[in-house]
Amino acid sequence: MTRPPASQPPGTLGRVIAIDGPAGAGKSTLSRALARHLGLQRLDTGAMYRAVAWGAITRDVDPGDHEAVATLARTMSITVGDRVTADGKDITEAIRAPDVNRAVSVVAANRDVRTIMVARQRQWAEDHRGGVVEGRDIGSVVFPHADLKIYLTASGEERARRRSEEGSDWIARRDHLDSTRAASPLEVAEGAKVIDTTGRSIKAVVEEVLAWL
Ligand code: C5P
Repeated sequence: MTRPPASQPPGTLGRVIAIDGPAGAGKSTLSRALARHLGLQRLDTGAMYRAVAWGAITRDVDPGDHEAVATLARTMSITVGDRVTADGKDITEAIRAPDVNRAVSVVAANRDVRTIMVARQRQWAEDHRGGVVEGRDIGSVVFPHADLKIYLTASGEERARRRSEEGSDWIARRDHLDSTRAASPLEVAEGAKVIDTTGRSIKAVVEEVLAWL
């Protein structure tokens, strides 16, 4: 598997916490809580891929058109924080719509899109002197030298319940695409601590993780 060049070795960035896992595992809840506890910024990298998928849909570009989508990713200006914007437009709610759920994994399988997003994610961490970064390839590809890597998971049933608005079939389809694609598939990164959040309160999970830091 070809990967983008490895990120900076330890010490040249502030503290980086990488959180990966499938849809509905609890990544956003955990990363918000950790960022708050540790006084770090948080980056939701899924929102970046969603923004590109939204860009393709709104411009009538086929999400599977490799070149056209890569050009979009290269030219769109995307900001991800409490709100998500693309080219100055607030798309925070729009990127959670069903058509984006359905297109995003196709867009995210595009190797060129990933190279562009990974570079922006590393730049974000440099600009913010580290942070809590959540996604699918954060510990494996984006920040292989992260100070802490966590792989969150939960039973398929529980994840589908947490994302009931998306529908269990679509979640399963997205997870399948994300785990089987050639470019940076979802996997447990080397050195990641695996936490199964099935039936556990977020408070208990946050306490467990904080104890490791
Ligand atoms: O995290 P979220 O479910 O919003 O991510 C949406 C999609 O973006 C994922 O299903 C995956 O296809 C893609 N993604 C990715 N790599 C990341 C973050 C998200 O491929 N680091």
